[in-house]
Amino acid sequence: MAGGVAVLGAVVLVGWAFDVPVLKSVVPGLGTMKPNTALCFVLSGVALGLQAGGHTSVAGRRIAQLCGALVLLIGVATLAEFLFHVDLGLDALLVPVAAPLGSPYPERMSETAALSLACAGGALLVLDSRHARAAAQILAFVVALLSLTALVGYAYGQRALYASDPFTAVALHTALGFAALAIGILCARPDRGMVAVFVGDTAGGAMARRLVPVALALPLALGWLELAGERAGVYPAAFGTGWFAVSTVVLLVAAILLYADSVSRLDAKRRYAEQELKRSNEELERFAYVASHDLQEPLRMVASYVQLLAKRYKGKLDRDADEFIDFAVDGAVRMKALIEDLLAVSRVGTRGAPLIPTDANAVLEHAIASLRLAIDEAGASVTSDRLPVVAADAGQLEHVFLNLISNALKFRGVAAPHVQLSAEARDGQWVFRVQDNGIGIEPQYFDRIFLLFQRLHAKTQYPGTGLGLAIAKKVVERHGGRIWVESEPGRGSSFFFSLPVITGG
Ligand code: ADP
Repeated sequence: MAGGVAVLGAVVLVGWAFDVPVLKSVVPGLGTMKPNTALCFVLSGVALGLQAGGHTSVAGRRIAQLCGALVLLIGVATLAEFLFHVDLGLDALLVPVAAPLGSPYPERMSETAALSLACAGGALLVLDSRHARAAAQILAFVVALLSLTALVGYAYGQRALYASDPFTAVALHTALGFAALAIGILCARPDRGMVAVFVGDTAGGAMARRLVPVALALPLALGWLELAGERAGVYPAAFGTGWFAVSTVVLLVAAILLYADSVSRLDAKRRYAEQELKRSNEELERFAYVASHDLQEPLRMVASYVQLLAKRYKGKLDRDADEFIDFAVDGAVRMKALIEDLLAVSRVGTRGAPLIPTDANAVLEHAIASLRLAIDEAGASVTSDRLPVVAADAGQLEHVFLNLISNALKFRGVAAPHVQLSAEARDGQWVFRVQDNGIGIEPQYFDRIFLLFQRLHAKTQYPGTGLGLAIAKKVVERHGGRIWVESEPGRGSSFFFSLPVITGG
């Protein structure tokens, strides 16, 4: 677009320099593109080309803004000439134009062209200014509207739409140039404004892509037909206007209803995808529950018998046998922990108790009491500010506290572990914080650690199943909140989780 606009301006300037009528007005006899307009097209094309894509150097942006400012200045100065009936000597600056009979200002562009240039120049000047992004879009829309009006005037043969007095008219290629410029400015930042909606992979984008072309083409085509019928004397003017109104309404309503029908169909399909997903999720959870529940029994048997073997025969067989028995005990213990955690994961959604007002302080006390031995062994201190009453399943909330505190003890640094709990009201939610002074976590793992079986360490370094945080996440999400971590390696971690504030009675 940018190249096209600049080339158009340059070609017309050549037309003026060497007096080639076809370059000045396309169809000799029709309005000409004035030299100043052509110059502004070159400047606008350069400004747009330099800023297209958004990766402009500082120097490039400055040049683009300078071009935009010049275009704005020429547009505004020309408008002032019209408004205040003055001659600023701007019009014949480039090429003096031989006056058509009776024209008081033969070199001057039309008011419409001047207004379009002022808007386009302004838009190019503020394209990336943080506070005027909406203004750039609005100005480009004005340019589009003005050029559409002139183009419709040419298509319909209605001079009043592209000329305001007998001498000044928007030339056909000027109108086309402005249309290209407006589209170019709007598309220069496709991630913003209406263009972002239009090209977006959203229901709104799909609707805009279907309905905007219809809304543009339909009234224009019907209007043209109405005029043609009227000029051919098929019906009187008043009838034609009525016919235009009715046919536009009927066809636009039909287009909207057709679109609405396809959207409803898609919606029904989506709801069916969603139900299937819910069903298969539930099935998977049931499967995980049944599998881990049923595996528990034989595993318990294996574990207790290998432990019995270890107790009775350790030191009585050879060294290899002792080692093998140790491996078997270790494996059985780990598998037991894994299956218990898997069972806990599958129980969050299916076996949860109702969410009722629960004093988080009492739940925390319970959790600390269960962890007393581990806390004392680690020489740790666990302290807490006053916590709120929240709508929760106390058993599940305790599980979250247990998991976060035992992780803080497990992933401790050189200093004695200190765990501090607090909660604050933020954006209509209670945000709990469990802060430790442990080994910390690298930022690239902040999301991964909440997934099933994701661990950052070998089991020999720190024991665990990699399910604790996944269970905590499921519990928090079941309560309508979310969980996240902030941490710096070597400086400790803070786990946050939000729970909705209890509202109403
Ligand atoms: P597990 O503790 O069984 O390994 P989790 O799901 O509880 O599994 O944690 C996943 C991983 O997140 C851990 O293996 C560890 O690498 C990291 N992590 C969790 N809590 C902390 C913490 N307080 N400090 C440092 N790393 C942690």
